[in-house]
Amino acid sequence: TDDPSRWLETVAADDPERPLLETGDGRRLNYGQMAALTRRLAGALTALEVQPGDRVVAQVEKSPEAIALYLACLHLGATFVPLNTAYTFAELEYFLGDAAPCVAVVRPADRQQVQPIAAACGVKHVETLDDGGGGSLLDIGSDAPPSAAHAPTTLAALLYTSGTTGRSKGAMLTRANLSSNATTLAQAWRFSSHDVLLHALPIFHVHGLFVAINTVLASGSSMLFLSKFDADDIIRLLPRASVMMGVPTFYTRLLQHTGLNKHTVRNVRLFVSGSAPLLAETHREFQARTGHAILERYGMSETLMNTSNPYDGQRIPGSVGPALPGVEVRIADPDSGAPLPEPDAIGMIEVRGPNVFSGYWRMPEKTASEFRQDGFFITGDLGKRDAHGYVYIVGRGKDLIITGGYNVYPIEVELEIDALPGVNESAVIGVPHADFGEGVTAVVVLNKNAALDEASIRSALEQRLAKFKLPKRIVFVAELPRNTMGKVQKSALRERYRDLYQ
Ligand code: ATP
Ligand code: MG
Repeated sequence: TDDPSRWLETVAADDPERPLLETGDGRRLNYGQMAALTRRLAGALTALEVQPGDRVVAQVEKSPEAIALYLACLHLGATFVPLNTAYTFAELEYFLGDAAPCVAVVRPADRQQVQPIAAACGVKHVETLDDGGGGSLLDIGSDAPPSAAHAPTTLAALLYTSGTTGRSKGAMLTRANLSSNATTLAQAWRFSSHDVLLHALPIFHVHGLFVAINTVLASGSSMLFLSKFDADDIIRLLPRASVMMGVPTFYTRLLQHTGLNKHTVRNVRLFVSGSAPLLAETHREFQARTGHAILERYGMSETLMNTSNPYDGQRIPGSVGPALPGVEVRIADPDSGAPLPEPDAIGMIEVRGPNVFSGYWRMPEKTASEFRQDGFFITGDLGKRDAHGYVYIVGRGKDLIITGGYNVYPIEVELEIDALPGVNESAVIGVPHADFGEGVTAVVVLNKNAALDEASIRSALEQRLAKFKLPKRIVFVAELPRNTMGKVQKSALRERYRDLYQ
């Protein structure tokens, strides 16, 4: 079926006892129970006068009720707006003002402080959900009737981007965006009703919400639904899972766990990684330890998933794979937009397809400037495509370094630094420089007891990189700043070192 409301309803009607999820503390819900909970919450939203097209903001802990709230919005044709649980009240004020929801659902402990903020933003109702199966939202109204049909172009979600390159923007995703991508992923990754997904991602983000939960619902499978990533829990539960989805830091942390081996993963058929670059070294180490080649894929809030390494066939470390079926990916000149069809040419990654969003919420000019005339969306990521169609991301356009008039792609320098014995990882950034415009600057994390310093790294790089690409300074840190999705915060690093050359 091609409507996201029907995934749950169909299984709930045919096979209500089929398991849908089990939480970390052993709570179990089957499809029938999730459908009932969804109608409960859809009834509550109706009592709060939520109409089709209205926004419902959720800043709540990960729980089965939080999934039901998302599904209740789909049920009513309302627009679900999940927010990062780490956002402060000041940030919440921005999002409530921008999204202008009818209802805000928050954690019980936050309600009192949110109420005046919500009132100032014109939000009529503030209700709560907790992570233990309770909350004020569960006590309102009566169960909603079965859902009506909603047009595929209806806005299903307003998904705020992670804010890695600037202020978060609300990506408007339609029901058709969600259904086409989930169907594509379920097929590409061979999901069936027998699968058990180990789910330890947050559900306010495209990865944990749409890639993970929608793929499970679209295939009628089930999940082990953990409130957060904890390596001990993962190792304990992996024998019960057939698929795991994670950000790269999940994999690096699992590699540090002595319990990770071929026996632990004996029932797993697929490991997926995304949201941030997976180091080729992590890919190789994981394969050596477990026998599994992690499948890396690439997507974003605005487009859901664009490319994926193949289920059958070669999964190339360092590549995000070819375009998914139905998705067009091209490399184009960042300035003119002229397509660069020749293999391995570096340029802007642009995408077009049923997965691509319908624009940024209340930002018509920004929306217009991020689309080409022929409908391709300009992702902001730079990359190349090889002769076999495999895409390689080289970094974000905003992270490109221009030094003395030359372009330097950070990843090229990072890969050389990371390959040096004793280096754990690195981030290469451009920092204001009086002579060069920007000075190439490397921020390096060393392994314990590594005997490396600025001079030894520089002399090793001199053998490998053209002079203009060499870092002018190399600084050492204990760890790179990352957000909850494991994304390195390069803008924070640029800020930290902005006076380095002054
Ligand atoms: P903002 O748009 O607000 O600056 P963001 O781009 O980090 O934040 P998201 O939509 O959560 O917000 O993330 C999408 C981005 O994540 C992509 O544009 C890409 O840069 C990065 N990304 C996703 N998957 C991968 C991957 N497999 N390898 C490298 N980068 C990836
Ligand atoms: Mg982005």
